Amino acid sequence: MRSQVRMAQKMGKKLGKREVLLREVPQMSFKRILYIPHDHLNLDHGVLATANPLEDAIVLVESARMTTGRSWHPERLFFLLSSARHFAQVLESRGFTVLYVQAATTLAGIAEAKKTFGELPVFCAEPSSHVQMRQLAEAGINFVPNDFFLTSRELFFQWAEKQKSYVMENFYRAQRVRLGILMQNGDPVGGRWNYDADNRLPPPKNYTWPAYLEHNRDEIDLAVAKQLGMEATRTWATTREGALAQLDYFIQNHMAGFGPYEDAITKDNWALHHSLLSPYLNNGLLHAREVVDAALKAFENGAPIGSVEAFVRQIIGWREYINGMYWFLGEDYRNKNELKATRKLLPLYTDSSKTKMKCVSSVVADVEKRSWTHHIPRLMVLSNLALTAGVNPQEFLDWMREQFIDATDWVMVPNIIGMATHADGGMLMTKPYASGGAYLNKMTDHCKGCFYDPKKRTGDDACPYTTLYWDFLDRHKDAFKKNHRMFQQMSGLNRLSDLPEVRVRAAEVLAGLDQGLI
Ligand SMILES: Cc1cc2nc3c(=O)[nH]c(=O)nc-3n(C[C@H](O)[C@H](O)[C@H](O)COP(=O)(O)OP(=O)(O)OC[C@H]3O[C@@H](n4cnc5c(N)ncnc54)[C@H](O)[C@@H]3O)c2cc1C
Ligand code: SF4
Repeated sequence: MRSQVRMAQKMGKKLGKREVLLREVPQMSFKRILYIPHDHLNLDHGVLATANPLEDAIVLVESARMTTGRSWHPERLFFLLSSARHFAQVLESRGFTVLYVQAATTLAGIAEAKKTFGELPVFCAEPSSHVQMRQLAEAGINFVPNDFFLTSRELFFQWAEKQKSYVMENFYRAQRVRLGILMQNGDPVGGRWNYDADNRLPPPKNYTWPAYLEHNRDEIDLAVAKQLGMEATRTWATTREGALAQLDYFIQNHMAGFGPYEDAITKDNWALHHSLLSPYLNNGLLHAREVVDAALKAFENGAPIGSVEAFVRQIIGWREYINGMYWFLGEDYRNKNELKATRKLLPLYTDSSKTKMKCVSSVVADVEKRSWTHHIPRLMVLSNLALTAGVNPQEFLDWMREQFIDATDWVMVPNIIGMATHADGGMLMTKPYASGGAYLNKMTDHCKGCFYDPKKRTGDDACPYTTLYWDFLDRHKDAFKKNHRMFQQMSGLNRLSDLPEVRVRAAEVLAGLDQGLI
């Protein structure tokens, strides 16, 4: 059946205005309205898995709340909006009647769909945030299970309720067994669950990194970029074809090398061997199952177990665990601040020129440019500084949420509140991810050209990470002395002969960071 609704060419109009982007209301009697959030863009999953073009009308809502009112990174908005508009076009080509509407809120957009298609029951897959879940439930929207993950929320709860502490590695092993991934006769393939000890190498010298795939732009991309007042870059795909090309490119060029350098940071290459798949996994263009299958196929074709296992762990382990914990820990979890961190967001986060710290300015510049950095810059550069400087976790969460291409509530909240800032007091991670300059000196190649010296903790050229690491332990010694996993660090603190000087330098560093001068 041919769709009778056409997407109007009005993409150049201002966002935020309530506006239907489609013409011609079809003369059809639908039975349901299907609401497709911007992160459920998949024909085979969610509410579309059972959709029928003859009976179901579809609405996508570009809400003003999603696009304005916060300092969203333009690259992120471009990716989300252009992907959704492309997806609306795909639905239309499959015979669906699609209403793509700009409205003040999601509910206003759904109301518009009811005006257009009639007072029909509205269906949606369970949304991916607590707030949207609550709002849609209150509005009487019917939910079908969210199958964008390999682990249902119920199944995760069953696992979590049996745990004394929520150790990701235990969850990951259970996933391997349950899903039969990289298992042989009940044992892990290769005889080990985890190859981290062989990976975690520093950046290599004289190494040729494969170029990264660039994505061509079409009319929809250009219209969205124009609407946002930006140049369309070629970093991120906005279609399923582009996302599949990225997956294939990763498997062909990066899968084998993923493991060894997954924790390294180098000036030579912004993405190393990382997959760059998180945006597509998170907005639905790719499903976790097909990404894992592609990695397993690469293993069959000779990719090393150390890389394949490390990558599979990210998808069936970390990603599923973080999503499960988001739902398990509840809506209030995001407000936790057990370390009582009250510092305002540092100026260097919003302007990479506001610091002399080479590692930080380089990572923030990467975020400014592409709305992405890999896991270790997020954790050990951006978050480590927020943690040890005592930046308020909710302010830091807001900034990360606005800046990253792949940021959604379910993934940012546990990663920031639990893993990155220890604001949950250890519910997710048994100890805080705090480190001094020595770790960054080993895992990055930034220290050589830096004004600061990673080995020094006092003096004008002391590395701020090193100074703040000790000061952080000192400030929280009462909390950490009860934590047996912090024994080694606290013993180190007790042995510091120059703690008074470290405290003085830390006060200078914190004041300088507040002013954007460090
Ligand atoms: C402070 C902090 C904030 C983060 N915020 C986000 C976020 O908003 N969105 C997001 O998708 N990831 C987030 N991550 C996880 C991770 O950094 C990104 O998934 C990864 O860098 C994306 O790049 P990639 O696709 O090349 O990942 P790869 O390194 O190639 O890993 C493959 C996939 O594993 C998954 N993954 C790995 N680690 C995690 C994790 N901790 N949580 C969830 N998924 C994971 C992602 O889907 C990723 O695409 C965050 C990590 C930290 C420490
Ligand atoms: S010396 Fe410190 S601030 Fe400078 S690059 Fe190294 S870790 Fe970063």
